[in-house]
Amino acid sequence: MPALNPHLASMPSGYLFQEVAARIHAYEKSHPGREIISLGIGDVTRPLPGVVTRALADAALEMSTPEGFRGYGPEQGYEFLRAAICKHLYEPRGVTLGVDEVYISDGAKTDTSALQELLAPEARVAVTDPVYPVYVDSNVMAGRAGQYKDGLWSQIEYLPCVRENGFVPPLPRHYVDALYLCFPNNPTGVALPLRELQRYVDWARQNGALIFYDAAYSAFITSSEVPRSIYECEGARECAIECGSFSKLAGFTGVRCGYTVVPRSLYGGALGKMWRRRLAAKSNGVSYPVQRAAEAVFTPEGSRAWRDNVEYYLNNARAIRNALRKLGLQTYGGVDAPYVWVVTPEGMSGWQFFDFLLERAQVAGTPGEGFGPSGSGYFRLTAFNTAEKTEEAIWRICAAFA
Ligand SMILES: *Cc1c(COP(=O)(O)O)cnc(C)c1O
Repeated sequence: MPALNPHLASMPSGYLFQEVAARIHAYEKSHPGREIISLGIGDVTRPLPGVVTRALADAALEMSTPEGFRGYGPEQGYEFLRAAICKHLYEPRGVTLGVDEVYISDGAKTDTSALQELLAPEARVAVTDPVYPVYVDSNVMAGRAGQYKDGLWSQIEYLPCVRENGFVPPLPRHYVDALYLCFPNNPTGVALPLRELQRYVDWARQNGALIFYDAAYSAFITSSEVPRSIYECEGARECAIECGSFSKLAGFTGVRCGYTVVPRSLYGGALGKMWRRRLAAKSNGVSYPVQRAAEAVFTPEGSRAWRDNVEYYLNNARAIRNALRKLGLQTYGGVDAPYVWVVTPEGMSGWQFFDFLLERAQVAGTPGEGFGPSGSGYFRLTAFNTAEKTEEAIWRICAAFA
C-alpha cells in the first residue's frame, strides 16, 4: 500500500445528501404514484439566455476556422472577460479594479477550495456554522483541520450563526489567519448590510488576517444597504480576496465559469503573485467558448434575461416565506438570496421536520444539521423549482399544518 493522504482517506463521508435521497427513495417505494416536490434543489433550473448559448456556439464554430482557432489561452483568462467583469460587476458599485486583479476559473467551488493553498500548513482558519462545506473540506484535505468530533474539527474556529445573533457571525475569539465569509449566505439566505460587513474588514486589518469572501449569490441582492462586493467596504483591498461565479448569476452551473479578485494592494502584491504562480502551475485556463458565453451575460439581452431569472427565483422565495410565516413559522433569508431558512416547529430537529414534510406534504427540503451543528433545529428550502411546483408545494405544506 502506498503512503496515502491520511487527511483525505479519513474524511467523513458527505452523508447528508445521500441520506436525503435514501429517505425520498424509501418513501416513493412505499407510496407509489405520489409525486414528491423538491424544495431542496441547490442548482438553478431556468435555461440559459439565448444570447449566451449563441455566443457559446459562435465561439465554438470560430475555432474550426484557421483564423479563429485558439489553443491554450492565458491562464488568468482572456482580457475581454476580465475587463467585462470589472466594467459590469464592479464599476457600477463604485469599485475600480484593474484587469490584472481578476482571475477567471471554471467556478467558485474550484477557487474557494484553492484559497487555502495561499496559507501555511499550520495556519488557522475560521468559518461560520452552518457553512458551505467546501471551505472546511479543502482545509481538512490539506491537513489543517485537526481531529473530527461531533461534527466539528478541532483546529478550525467555528462562528455560530443562529437566531439569537440574527445569523450574523461573531468575530473570531482567537487569532486566525483567514476567515471565510459568504454573503448572501448559503444555507441561511441572510445578507449583511455594508456597516455589518465593515466590522469584519476592520477586524481583519487590525489583526493582520485575510478574509476569503464568497459572493456567489450577489446577483440576488435586492436590499439597497447590502453590498454586492466586499470591496464596497473601506480598506477591504488590504485584506480580502473575493470569489464570484456565473453559476447562480446566469445559470452557468453546467457551463462552468467563475472568477477570483486578488487586489494588487494585498500585502504589496505578494498574494497576487502567489495566486498567479499557483494558477500557472495548476491550470491552463477556461475554454474560449465558455469565456465568450460569460462575456455575453453582460450584453443588454443577457442582462435582461438573468435579471428576469433572478426575479423568478426571488418570487418563489417570497411565496415560500410568506406562506410559512402565515403558518406561524419563523423564517429568515429569502429576500436577497434564493434560500429560506426555517426554524423548525415545536423543537423538532431538522431531520424530524424533513420526515414530517415528506410524509404529510410530499415535499422535500434539507435538514439544517447537514451544514453544521448550529444548523440543528433549522431547515433549508430553496427557490429553484418552477413557480408552478413551488406553488403546489406551498399549498401542500399549508394543508399539512391545517
Ligand atoms: C453554488 C455556490 C457556489 C458556486 O460554485 P460554482 O463552482 O461557481 O458553480 C459557490 N459558493 C457557494 C456558497 C455556492 O452555494
